[in-house]
Amino acid sequence: MNNHSETEGSGHNSVHSDTDNIPGWNEELELAFSFYKGPYVPGRVTSRHKTVCEVLAPGAVVQAGISGALQKIGKQPVVGDFVVLLDQPETGSRMIVNILPRRTCLSRGAAGDGGGEQVIAANLDTIFIVTATGKDLNLRRLERYLTVVYSSGANPVILLNKIDLADDPTRLVEKIQSIAGTVPVIPLSALSKTGLDALSPHFNPGETVALVGSSGVGKSTLINSLLGETVQRTGGIREDDEKGRHTTTVRQMFLLPNGAVLIDNPGIREIQLGDSAEGIEKAFSEIVDAASNCKFKDCTHRDEPGCAVLKAVKDGIIPEERLASYHRLTDELAFQSRKSEIGLKRLEKERFKKIAVDIKKYKKSTGKL
Ligand code: GDP
Ligand code: ZN
Repeated sequence: MNNHSETEGSGHNSVHSDTDNIPGWNEELELAFSFYKGPYVPGRVTSRHKTVCEVLAPGAVVQAGISGALQKIGKQPVVGDFVVLLDQPETGSRMIVNILPRRTCLSRGAAGDGGGEQVIAANLDTIFIVTATGKDLNLRRLERYLTVVYSSGANPVILLNKIDLADDPTRLVEKIQSIAGTVPVIPLSALSKTGLDALSPHFNPGETVALVGSSGVGKSTLINSLLGETVQRTGGIREDDEKGRHTTTVRQMFLLPNGAVLIDNPGIREIQLGDSAEGIEKAFSEIVDAASNCKFKDCTHRDEPGCAVLKAVKDGIIPEERLASYHRLTDELAFQSRKSEIGLKRLEKERFKKIAVDIKKYKKSTGKL
């Protein structure tokens, strides 16, 4: 398997208009791009730095700035974006002037800025949620990942890594499958390279795959196994930027022999739960299904009469922990969206007030006041 070393030149690469080596480029994008003529070329963002993006353009990997006009309207290119570049060979500079329509969009609620949404990556078709046998295996955390992935629009696939360490991997797969619904659960060992073949149906030509999962579950090991020993990915590749200085960048986008694209990006790996209302519905589809029979349309499935979800839990059809997770995630979502509405500070105050009231109530009820 190879990376894009064949497309890299040093220094002022000449960009031509052949889109063959833009991984994931398709007819839809061709159409969107057809409005641009002249000095414009298409490209795909492979990594994002503060003010500069590394962009894979036809025939070259280039560093490109972001146009003032784009910044003004708050459009930020992210990893995976297909963009329109203004190429100026005479000055050797490139500028991203537009972002082509995104097929999928992976985002999270930004920390500390009032709960706004932050886009992390775009145009991911499939996301591998990597977990491992042992103490990392946590169904509740997997539900969170599923929610985030679903709301991005990408297809989730769960990988259970390190099966070489498990006594009974089949039982673990069954356990995960119980919360995963129709999402495939693939047991494998990245280290001993067993089970990797089962991933091939998820690497489709022109499609982009990325990995998420906690630190230590084996994502790096898996990527190295998938790419083969020949790809030197961590050493960094020296290139000349537009001013002729040497810069060192680490490859984050890989083209597999069949035309599938694999992205390994720190921002994607460390994704947190964001605004994911739609994702929750898909990750908890059995609850949503049952809810259609609740007596009240706005039933919260907590203590309402005629609640079909509570009945399903009582009848043992839906596990109690599933409903608890559902409540936890919907509460969190509600908190996040309220947070952005009325401001973090006030809400935190309300929370503490409520906690104080709860404590008083508790003390009263236990006679400790
Ligand atoms: P990351 O943080 O998710 O990128 O995890 P790494 O790829 O750095 O792996 C963390 C540790 O788990 C390393 O010591 C790996 O050698 C080990 N590891 C990864 N995959 C496997 C596996 O399939 N089996 C076993 N036994 N160890 C693994
Ligand atoms: Zn209900």
